[in-house]
Amino acid sequence: MSEKIEKSDAEWRVELTPEQYQVCRKKATEAPFSGEYYYNKEEGTYLCICCGNELFNSDAKYNSGSGWPSFWEPMKSESVKIERDYSHFMVREEILCSKCNAHLGHVFEDGPPPTFTRYCINSISLKFVPKK
Ligand code: FE
Repeated sequence: MSEKIEKSDAEWRVELTPEQYQVCRKKATEAPFSGEYYYNKEEGTYLCICCGNELFNSDAKYNSGSGWPSFWEPMKSESVKIERDYSHFMVREEILCSKCNAHLGHVFEDGPPPTFTRYCINSISLKFVPKK
C-alpha cells in the first residue's frame, strides 16, 4: 500500500544535512542527550526526516532515561521494519523507515507496558509535527 522511496546516495547527500546523512543513511548514532526531541513532551506526530512517513505518535513516547527519544510502539506496525544488525560486536534489532529505508535506531525488550518494547530513535532522523 505505501509506495517505496528509492534515491541514490548522491541524492540523499544533497537533501540531508551532513549529520542527518550520517545517521539516516550511514547508520551512525547521535550522542545521547544531544538530540532535539529527547525532552519533547508536546503532543504530535514524529515523521521520517528523509521521506515524511508517519512513524511515531507522542502518545507512545516515554522517558526511558537512555538519552534518545523512546517509544513503546510505532504509529502502525507497517511504519517501520526491523532487521538484525551485527555491527559493533553486538547483535541488535535495527529499526528502519519502511518507506525509504532510513536508519532510525534500535529496538530493545526493556520498554514499559503494554508492549515492553523500547523503540530507541535518533532525534535527528525525526521531524516533529505538533498537534493542531
Ligand atoms: Fe523514511
